[in-house]
Amino acid sequence: MPRIDYPSLIQELIRQLRRMPGIGPRSAERIALWIVQRKEAHADQIAEAMIKTISGIRSCVRCGFFSEADQCAICSDPGRDAQSLCVVEQATDILSLERSGAFHGLYHSLGGRLSPLDHVGPEDLRIDSLVRRVKEDQLQEVIFALSLDVEGEATLSYLGDLLNLEGVSVTRIAQGLPAGSGLESADELTLTRAFNGRTVFRP
Ligand SMILES: [Zn+2]
Repeated sequence: MPRIDYPSLIQELIRQLRRMPGIGPRSAERIALWIVQRKEAHADQIAEAMIKTISGIRSCVRCGFFSEADQCAICSDPGRDAQSLCVVEQATDILSLERSGAFHGLYHSLGGRLSPLDHVGPEDLRIDSLVRRVKEDQLQEVIFALSLDVEGEATLSYLGDLLNLEGVSVTRIAQGLPAGSGLESADELTLTRAFNGRTVFRP
């Protein structure tokens, strides 16, 4: 006798939900049933928000942060200190730093870090556009806020040498962030301290 399961539409919904980060089989089933059984779930609104977000959000052409226009809210704000640029690994790091209030300049997300083991080389990161900004935007200081693990250090070393040749002041945020965990997990006070205690990068 065939085993009775949910109708295939519900099974497919569960399968799709399971693809989301942090959603296991139990949670996927619970969410799917909530969507199907509860009117107040308004799942059509959830679906609409997902579709609108996918088509309406892009990466800022200058810094790589999330944006609804070509340039994000930070890059198009004339009140920012346009002479300081903070280089981070991921667009989400920008939000961590913004929330800390430690920095009022502009950002540049690399979209990752150098990692030979994972086959991530300079050509895979937003390095050309970084060098272009340093050359064209008359920056005074480039501050690196990268992870303090081996790959973060290798990325800093490579880019620090590259940007020193351009005659801009290259600094790095102070130690004190948890190694390997990125900026996301650091609290605001730690980020502010790391920023204020930044040091000059020496090759
Ligand atoms: Zn931007």
